[in-house]
Amino acid sequence: MAIHEKNLIRPENIKTHDELVIDGVDVSGHWSTFIESRVVEDYNEALQEEIAALPGGENIHRCWQCGSCTNACTVNAINPDFNPRYWIYLIRMGMESELLRDKDIIWQCVSCNKCTYACPRDVMPEGIMKATAHWLELKSHTPASNSTIFDNEFTRQVVENGKIEDGRVLKNFLQKSGQPLVQDWLIQMVMQMIRHLPVKFLFHLGWATLFKPKTRKWDKARAAIEEHIAEEKAEQRMALGLGKQEGL
Ligand code: SF4
Ligand code: SF4
Repeated sequence: MAIHEKNLIRPENIKTHDELVIDGVDVSGHWSTFIESRVVEDYNEALQEEIAALPGGENIHRCWQCGSCTNACTVNAINPDFNPRYWIYLIRMGMESELLRDKDIIWQCVSCNKCTYACPRDVMPEGIMKATAHWLELKSHTPASNSTIFDNEFTRQVVENGKIEDGRVLKNFLQKSGQPLVQDWLIQMVMQMIRHLPVKFLFHLGWATLFKPKTRKWDKARAAIEEHIAEEKAEQRMALGLGKQEGL
């Protein structure tokens, strides 16, 4: 029988015998290839619920493993190890240690949502990838990704001021992610903006960078949003068994 998704077979599980004769027939090398069974003993029975408790993970229980998401996936076309269908399977089965073997590539989802359009069960695999990457960070399996650092800075400005200022978001993101403030692509972008954008727009941009823009009478809205975020984070901490005191 043909083996589908051969890349899922770990090289260390492929066994051969250099010299093997069975009933007088030489089956040495390639002819004695077999795949060693995996033995999983450390199931996390709450894994599906933990992912489902995070934004984007809500529909994971609906997956019927058709594989349309992986088939449509932009990143899978370049890297066959990036396999949303397989990770959803591992999560639903509670196979946490197997999932952790791929922890360094799960964050590579580019949010193109091709999987979401291909999915016949409305699972929203893009959301599952985001929730899984978030879960890995919350459980300290991976450091905060640049994507999370950017999201946090963006959200912080919205909550604090009721507005965002592009230049400030970019500057704080670069600082917080340990990247240099002066980069070639940034210089080129600024040069293009100076050449092509109206002076009035550039003036407003510069003004907003120097003086934080703020929505008027924002304090009540900010308090309500902060309360909602705090409640949401507390619920997520509980669902992930992280306790009340730990920060997210
Ligand atoms: S959103 Fe992510 S998982 Fe879905 S197709 Fe695009 S890269 Fe793949
Ligand atoms: S396309 Fe949807 S139902 Fe099919 S494997 Fe992917 S998530 Fe599951």
